[in-house]
Amino acid sequence: LFARPWSFIKGCVRIDDLPPMDRVEIAFAGRSNVGKSSLINALVGATRLARTSNTPGRTQELNIFEATDAPLRVVDMPGYGFAQAPKPKVEAWTRLIHAYLTGRATLRRVYVLVDSRHGPKANDLTVMNELDGAAVSYQIVLTKADKPPLRDLEKAIAAARAAISKRPAAHPEVLVTSSETGAGIDQLRTEIHRLANH
Ligand code: GDP
Repeated sequence: LFARPWSFIKGCVRIDDLPPMDRVEIAFAGRSNVGKSSLINALVGATRLARTSNTPGRTQELNIFEATDAPLRVVDMPGYGFAQAPKPKVEAWTRLIHAYLTGRATLRRVYVLVDSRHGPKANDLTVMNELDGAAVSYQIVLTKADKPPLRDLEKAIAAARAAISKRPAAHPEVLVTSSETGAGIDQLRTEIHRLANH
């Protein structure tokens, strides 16, 4: 799956822009700058795949990635929690995300990316609430695990576990990754393979 060459298919600003629900989808969500592009690139073994679509002005889009004949589609959701974003943009983003998360039967899992240095923040919890409300499975992925001292990393892991422990549905175990060192990337690939083949 990840040995294939992946390409950017399109950016979707409206729900009608989305491709047909003809294959399993996984989506990546997270605060701006959490390391989402880097993680997607590390997963597919490309250096610029996600970044190339992240040009300013396209950041409010759902970016779609596919590999030829792959039984899986990757959806890169716009980064949230960007303080300077104008309100109408945030509102448009919120509507698009809500429509996507609640109306996509083929969405198998959302990876909620959280910075290892900070642990889950209020807007991460808001996204998790929305996902629970829509009965969408999600998994927290801690990013940039090479950055914090071990003690802070352990704190972030504990906080992430606590954030999913009292949820209405069971969610898979927190993953710890670094796009820089490659830590946890194979584990994430294994999880995604499993989702694609079910
Ligand atoms: P995005 O806005 O969520 O797509 O974040 P990016 O992938 O563009 O990353 C934001 C910044 O964090 C960039 O400067 C990256 O080089 C850096 N970064 C991303 N992942 C890692 C990582 O695993 N380790 C370290 N040390 N830096 C990272």
